[in-house]
Amino acid sequence: MDGVTHSLVGLTSAKAGLERWSPYATVVCILSANAPDIDVMSGFFGGRWTLLHYHRGITHSIIGTLALGFLIPSIFYAVDRAIAQWRKHPPKIRYRGLLVASLIAAATHPLMDWTNNYGIRPLLPWSGKWFYGDLVFIIDPYIWLVLGGAAFLLTSSRRLKIIGWSVLGIASTLLILLGPAQRGLTTTVVFVVRVIWILGLLAFILARWFNLQRRLKSIAFAALAFVVCYWGALALMHHAAYQNAFTRADQLAAENAEQSPSLAKRRRNRPSDLSFLCRRCSSAFDLAGTLRKALRLERATRVCCIARSSRSSSSRVRPVSVGASGE
Ligand SMILES: [Zn+2]
Repeated sequence: MDGVTHSLVGLTSAKAGLERWSPYATVVCILSANAPDIDVMSGFFGGRWTLLHYHRGITHSIIGTLALGFLIPSIFYAVDRAIAQWRKHPPKIRYRGLLVASLIAAATHPLMDWTNNYGIRPLLPWSGKWFYGDLVFIIDPYIWLVLGGAAFLLTSSRRLKIIGWSVLGIASTLLILLGPAQRGLTTTVVFVVRVIWILGLLAFILARWFNLQRRLKSIAFAALAFVVCYWGALALMHHAAYQNAFTRADQLAAENAEQSPSLAKRRRNRPSDLSFLCRRCSSAFDLAGTLRKALRLERATRVCCIARSSRSSSSRVRPVSVGASGE
């Protein structure tokens, strides 16, 4: 998913309790929640095809996530120890708490990315198989609204932070209101989403205005629980939509007196859009290979025909030439 969502998940997880496990846990949670997307750097070195090849690869795997979740708090700890030795006072960081908080935050990244149709490859480097939930788009306004609202209530303690949240709120509102809508959504749905966004935003601003965050101590937990319930609801709708598609496909097949394709099976095994694209590419390569073989066969056939015709013509000519030579 997008960096804003990962940052909000890291921040909300920290506010839900991980921040109490060690100093700097909030910063580490935000960094670890974003860390697997470091693979986008590959785009700077090799272009978009390199990015497409490496993105959501090893850094999003189980091994990669564990390594990054371990690396970030270890760097913080090493720096903290070095500063403590230099200033001759005990280190601030509690390494074990920071490590566990970092691993939890890092684990949220592949989990969030799995919910897209793009998917992840968690078994790399042993298997490149894609896994995907196909539940939410890469940017989801409801997740932004709920996690962002909760994080805003829990962290907007100073004027500078309020200014930062205001800038983020205005930018995201402009994107939601003026940005292009997802393909396939009707104007009514887009209108409803925009109205929910505005109402939700106003509700959080009013809650902050009346300092309700002091009474809403579990709001971080509630926001994370909302995301899980939201996924559950989408999973149910997703399942229902697939069932409808299978039924309709079977109906169409029956109407056209065709054999019903094993759509259910194919859909269940359908890879993500990207791997589908790759499959299309490999099909194209297969087709190209077949064409090459056909061309080779055709060329070979043509050579055979030419050879045969030249043999037959030479055999026709030969008696003449023999005759001629005999002359
Ligand atoms: Zn990612």
